[in-house]
Amino acid sequence: MEESVSIVIPVYEEEESLPHLYKSIKDVMDPLKRKYEIVFVDDGSRDNTFKVLEAYQKKDPAVVVISFRRNFGQTAAMAAGFEYAQGDIIVTMDADLQNDPTDIPRLLEKMKGHDVVSGWRKKRQDKFISRRLPSMIANGLISKVTGVHLHDYGCTLKAYRKEVIKNVRLYGEMHRFIPAIASWFGASITEVETNHHPRKFGKSKYGISRTIRVVLDLITVKFLQSFSTRPIHAFGPGGLLLGFLGFIIALYLSFEKVVFGQSIGGRPLLSLSVLFMILGVQLVIMGLLGEMLARIYHESQGKPIYTVKKVLGR
Ligand code: UDP
Ligand code: MG
Repeated sequence: MEESVSIVIPVYEEEESLPHLYKSIKDVMDPLKRKYEIVFVDDGSRDNTFKVLEAYQKKDPAVVVISFRRNFGQTAAMAAGFEYAQGDIIVTMDADLQNDPTDIPRLLEKMKGHDVVSGWRKKRQDKFISRRLPSMIANGLISKVTGVHLHDYGCTLKAYRKEVIKNVRLYGEMHRFIPAIASWFGASITEVETNHHPRKFGKSKYGISRTIRVVLDLITVKFLQSFSTRPIHAFGPGGLLLGFLGFIIALYLSFEKVVFGQSIGGRPLLSLSVLFMILGVQLVIMGLLGEMLARIYHESQGKPIYTVKKVLGR
């Protein structure tokens, strides 16, 4: 029996796209003879999205609908979809017909040797200046910083093995970083070229401001990757160095005052020395606070600081 599939789709005010989307998913999935479900997450739409989804659910047992009380955003919608999905493999895609369900079989084929398969919209159909250019820069930056090289982090069409998803907690706009986070757990990642279509109905929910949020999320992800179990190592060295420099300068100034009787009250160096010492102490304290938070973070979630692949003889 082949592994079952859950297709998770965040939907925010896409009533016109849904009939086409639903039909093309059915056309693609039915012939595969795999067990599958479609998990629609209605992210607080105010149009007829929910009514349309409800109608599908009534006649099709393969449809699951989760409806949010208000708009929580695409990442939250995905997290909810993951929570309810029961398939061995989870496929995510957009509801606006920009992703193409006919790509799903190729993603599933690739899953045989990997834990994550990422779509790559090689011929992306979005505006260059406001979308494709920022996204090219973001992809380069994310690949470099996380060390996981993908052409298209922003493509929602991706497939994940269930175990990988269950290990990932999503905040902010983090869904695009799942492959990077998964690879730190040791998951194997690959990508396949996928189709991409211009948006036919409705309008995009995002503008260029998303780029800034993505960069901020990247900083968070990088910090968590490198220092989440040892934050003092991130802040401590800088703190010690500044504190030490400040102290040396203060020592030098005291020497001048005591030995040569010079007045040091008006010297810029004095301010610098004090600034360095205060900053140094603050950075070390920040590291210690980070350490306490890290313990709360890991222990409250029962989250170990490692991931186990297999245990034998137990
Ligand atoms: N979406 C959502 N909640 C939001 C914004 C968007 O669930 O607050 C969904 C939207 O319905 C679509 C997907 O996320 O299925 C991607 O959104 P959009 O097409 O607007 O983004 P773009 O393709 O322009 O990057
Ligand atoms: Mg779109």
